[in-house]
Parts: sequence; structure tokens; C-alpha cells
Amino acid sequence: MRLRISTRCYTVTSKRKLTTGLQNRLSNVFIPPYIASRVDGGMVIPFFQAESRLGTRIASQTWVSASGTRNVIRKQLIVLTTSGIYHVLPLGLRVQEKIERIINITMASLCASKLSLSTLSSSKLWKQTGRWEKYGQELFRLTDRKSSEFCLCPTHEEEITNLIANEILSYRQLPLRLYQIGRKFRDEKRPRGGLLRGREFLMNDLYTFDASEAAAMQTYDAVQAAYYRLFKTIGVPFVVAEAESGNIGGDKSHEYHYLSSSIPEFGALLTIGGEDKVLVCERCNYAVNTERSSSPQCLQCGSQMHEKSAIEVGHTFHLGTRYSEALGAFVTAEDPSIRSAIQMGCHGIGVSRLVVAIADICRGSRGLCWPVSVAPWETVIVTAGQEEGAEQVWDLLKDYTDSVIDDRQKTLGWKLKDAEAVGYPVTVIVGHSKG
Ligand SMILES: [Zn+2]
Repeated sequence: MRLRISTRCYTVTSKRKLTTGLQNRLSNVFIPPYIASRVDGGMVIPFFQAESRLGTRIASQTWVSASGTRNVIRKQLIVLTTSGIYHVLPLGLRVQEKIERIINITMASLCASKLSLSTLSSSKLWKQTGRWEKYGQELFRLTDRKSSEFCLCPTHEEEITNLIANEILSYRQLPLRLYQIGRKFRDEKRPRGGLLRGREFLMNDLYTFDASEAAAMQTYDAVQAAYYRLFKTIGVPFVVAEAESGNIGGDKSHEYHYLSSSIPEFGALLTIGGEDKVLVCERCNYAVNTERSSSPQCLQCGSQMHEKSAIEVGHTFHLGTRYSEALGAFVTAEDPSIRSAIQMGCHGIGVSRLVVAIADICRGSRGLCWPVSVAPWETVIVTAGQEEGAEQVWDLLKDYTDSVIDDRQKTLGWKLKDAEAVGYPVTVIVGHSKG
């Protein structure tokens, strides 16, 4: 028998209170309730596939810490919709936007202009560079109603080189640096829970154009220095490793990695056993991807290097003329009878990957521990009912820190636990003093 519910019979009253005003309030933020996960024998068991009532999956995790205390970590950043595809929730988006802000500042220091390239790309350019075939099944391909072939861009060398080939004609217009922060697509064979290797992800890509190889090398060094500053600003320890250039081509490349170092459950949230391996010299900090070199001897100082699990969060590539020659991006020199192919570089930072990598690395037994640079909010102001006091504190702090009031209808103890789980760098408790 089917139960029939008539909407005419019942009136449902909304109970949630929304508050307008200057102050940021957690009561106004959409934060879904977490789903408890499974814990077994003191081992870390990441549990991504908890079905919520709406049929979406919330990435959440529970583990038993070294002290044996059972702790619940809520991953309220991302909701997986289907394998390798996810929505970013308000808390995750705040982290993402803070990373984007750091990227924008870094790109400004390189005098790079921001643009936004289309995500749909015609097969024509990809066939010219040979990557329509070479990319294989990882390329998301589609056909329009006129049977023309397109792809959803996994990267933008083809499109940007074509743009430059049409607009930049003289060495007087170089150097040029262009970047975007945009969505990219990759038909991963085995998308890992959508967190580390999503099929749709956000990246910052920077493309550099120079008139000569010597100038391109200077640009490369400037980009490396800027990336170094960027990862320093974020504040999570990293290594720079010499790398293979892989599918993208070119002859000079470096990767920026977060290392496993002292975290035993490292990578548990992101991936199980699928991350990169790098060899690191503890004496001089030289690092190299094991795809490039498997020799345990440091190329710089001769010491023994050690293999570590790592997550690649950025890369820099010198491309040379691979794309400019294939797509006809040439400039005239001072002597206008001489035309030469533009020297290019492409450089990337995995923005959505950084959100989850930082969350995974920066956590303790009670929850996440966001670095101040990217925390959803730097300070949470917790109230035990003294609403007015919290607003005054927020007003006092607003010029110094990015803060939010936890004014939800919960006990002080609940809010403090929640603040620890979310991992705000600073918690301010507003209450009456005794005596
Ligand atoms: Zn060394």
C-alpha cells in the first residue's frame, strides 16, 4: 500500500533563523550535518561513500587516534556527486577563494594578466599539435549537432598558443605572461573519490611567452621564485623536485610536492597508495621525482636520498617552441626579415587539490588545523548565549582578523568541539566572568 501525503492537510513551519547584519554568522552558513563513519580496530578507515538521505555522498572520516580516543573529523568541504565529480560546499569554497587570492597576488608580482579561456575546445588545434590522438582516453571528447569534434580542456596550451599566434606578431610585444584560474576536465581511469584526482578540477595555469631562449630561462627562474614564495605564504612544508616533462613536452620542469614526513595516516583522506614518490636529500634538500631518477645518491651533494610519498600541488615547465611551431606563433625580430618561434612556458597550481591536500596534512587528533593563510575563517567567536558581546568582539576584531560568530542554537561544549573539528586557528569564547 502506498502512503499518500496531502500537502493540504499539514502546514510545515520553518525553524531556521537567518540574521542579517555586518557580522559573519555560522547560523547563516550552509553546513550539512556530518555522517558518522566506521572505525575498526584502531586503524584509520577513510569512509567516503556514506549515503545521505538525499543520495549524495559526503566525504567524512572517523579514526581512532594514538591515544585511543575516538574522534570524529567532519569533512564539510566537499560533496561527491558521482565518481570523480564533486560540489564544493561553503566552508571548502572559502578555503579555495583564499588560495585563489594568494595566487592572484603572486601572479601580480610576475606582471601576469588574468584571463579566462573557454573550456570547450575544437579538435582542430589538438590535431595540429598531435595531442588529439596522444591524449588518449583521458581527454573528454564530445560531438556537436553538426558532427564537429570538441573536447573539454584538460589544459590550455593549444588554445592560448592559437590566441597568441593571432595577436602577437613582433618581439616588441614580448615578454608576455597570461594566467587563469579555471575548471579543467580529465577522464580519469580510476578517479579516487573525487578528492585528489577528480574528473573536473580547478587549476591555476600560467603561460609565459618570450622572444629568445635566454629570456625564457629568466622568466622560468622568476616563476620558480614566485612559486616558492606562494607555497611559503600558504605555510605548509613543501619540496621542489626535478621532474619528467611527460605528456606536455619541453625540457625543463619542476614539481612542488607536499611530503608525508611525520604523519602516519598521510594521504588517507586523499588516496590510498596512489600518490607520487620523490627522493629527498635531507642534507641539502635536493629532491627528484622517482620517474626521473631512481638513483639514491644526491646529485648535488652525494648524500643518501630517501624515498617519500608525496602529493604534487604545483609544477613549472619550460616548453620551448613545441606549441608555437605547431600552431604558427612566430614573431619578427629587429631585422623584420627574421621570424622566430615564440619561447613558451606553462606553469600550474592544483587549486582544488590544494584544498584537500592542506586539509589532509594539517590535522590533529581532534580535527583539522588550517594554516592562518587559508583557514575558512581565521577566528571563530563562540558564544554561550551572549549574542551582544559576540557582535562587539566581532566589530573589534574586524580590522585585524577574518572572523565568524558561532551563534547556532547549540551548547558551548558542542560549539567548542565543532571549532576544534573544523580547525579554526583561533577560538574566542565570549561569556560572563565569574566573581
Ligand atoms: Zn644533497
